[in-house]
Amino acid sequence: MAAEPTVIVVGGGYCGVTTAQYLDTFANVTLVEERDRFVHNVGLLRGLVDAGFADDLTMPYTSALARGEVVHARVVQFDGEGVELSDGRILYADFVVLATGSGYPFPAKLTGPHIYSELERLADATRDLRSAKNVLIVGAGPVGVELAGEITSAWPGKSTTIIDRADKIVPGPYSDAFRDSLASQLSDRDVRVCLGVDLIGLPLTPAGVHAPSKVESTSGEPFDFDIWFRCFGGRPDTDYLGSTIVQAVRDDGRIDVEPSLQVAGYCNVFAVGDVTSVPEAKRAGVASGHARVVAANIRAIHDGAVPRERYVPGAARIVVPLGPDGGAGFAAGVEITQREVLESKGKDLNVARVRGQLLGRTSNRGRP
Ligand SMILES: Cc1cc2nc3c(=O)[nH]c(=O)nc-3n(C[C@H](O)[C@H](O)[C@H](O)COP(=O)(O)OP(=O)(O)OC[C@H]3O[C@@H](n4cnc5c(N)ncnc54)[C@H](O)[C@@H]3O)c2cc1C
Repeated sequence: MAAEPTVIVVGGGYCGVTTAQYLDTFANVTLVEERDRFVHNVGLLRGLVDAGFADDLTMPYTSALARGEVVHARVVQFDGEGVELSDGRILYADFVVLATGSGYPFPAKLTGPHIYSELERLADATRDLRSAKNVLIVGAGPVGVELAGEITSAWPGKSTTIIDRADKIVPGPYSDAFRDSLASQLSDRDVRVCLGVDLIGLPLTPAGVHAPSKVESTSGEPFDFDIWFRCFGGRPDTDYLGSTIVQAVRDDGRIDVEPSLQVAGYCNVFAVGDVTSVPEAKRAGVASGHARVVAANIRAIHDGAVPRERYVPGAARIVVPLGPDGGAGFAAGVEITQREVLESKGKDLNVARVRGQLLGRTSNRGRP
């Protein structure tokens, strides 16, 4: 092998960028990302209710890597060797890291390569949401609850209903005290939470658009709304995997990885982030932990050593803000205080930290 290993990182979300930055110190890195700008999707729900906030949620990749290159293209095929791009090029490297993450219904995540047109779509949804009196949120997981919090912080009088077929909000390995705290804050905001409700079908009107209509539950209960949002149905993005490597994709759509974060059955292919089978809540917060393990193992293999670094999933952790002034959290078995919620996420949704990582500065406002 050459003096420096060559590495292609596919996907420039939180985990792909962080891994590329770790590798950039000793490897020749190419980061392939289809979008023309990085999107800090963790802040998008606040961006939906506050157009000024949305301005700071995207940033160019130009300063992301000190030495490596960022290529903007979609990877259309990878089967363990060449990485085929949407522009027809095929890239080769000693190692490939798959970091293609997961998609989620708008507006919690954006789709497509052109981020400014997605931001226009977000601004249209903001305008439609502002004029809506009744908002329906389908899904009472962390995204649905967080969206209800943002809406009721921005427009306290807006009638907001959350529906879910589950019997509790924010399912997962969290405490009842955490859920009770969220439920009582939602109640204080007059958010109607309807659990154990199965809809006959999803609304026929497009999500995120002002289009008054109604849906019915299987028991005949009607839910009227002016605008609705779909807050469930995230899925890992692996449609570019070829017929051999796709055998490492499990039934739940995630790529099977060893504790070394090598893709099962592959020595020189790694995966990080949402797309992996690592048994932990899918969070941007795991990015450094995944990146550190992958970088150490790539360095070891390149040096002719055994890749010994192992990723050990951390304890369950979640922070669900309800706007800039509320929310609840749970970490390592205990509920975390509201002050910690606001400090760790709620106030600025980590915008400054992410902008620092990508750009070394904190705001787009007033910049060309
Ligand atoms: C509303 C909301 C709030 C959240 N809040 C938090 C939070 O507070 N804390 C937290 O830790 N986590 C939070 N999360 C979860 C977090 O967003 C995800 O865990 C995180 O996005 C995963 O990062 P990733 O890099 O694995 O994937 P992604 O962020 O999904 O990035 C994948 C990247 O790969 C690119 N890509 C995909 N396919 C291809 C291809 N074929 N070719 C080229 N590029 C491709 C995509 O364009 C994208 O840029 C939140 C999620 C949502 C929806």
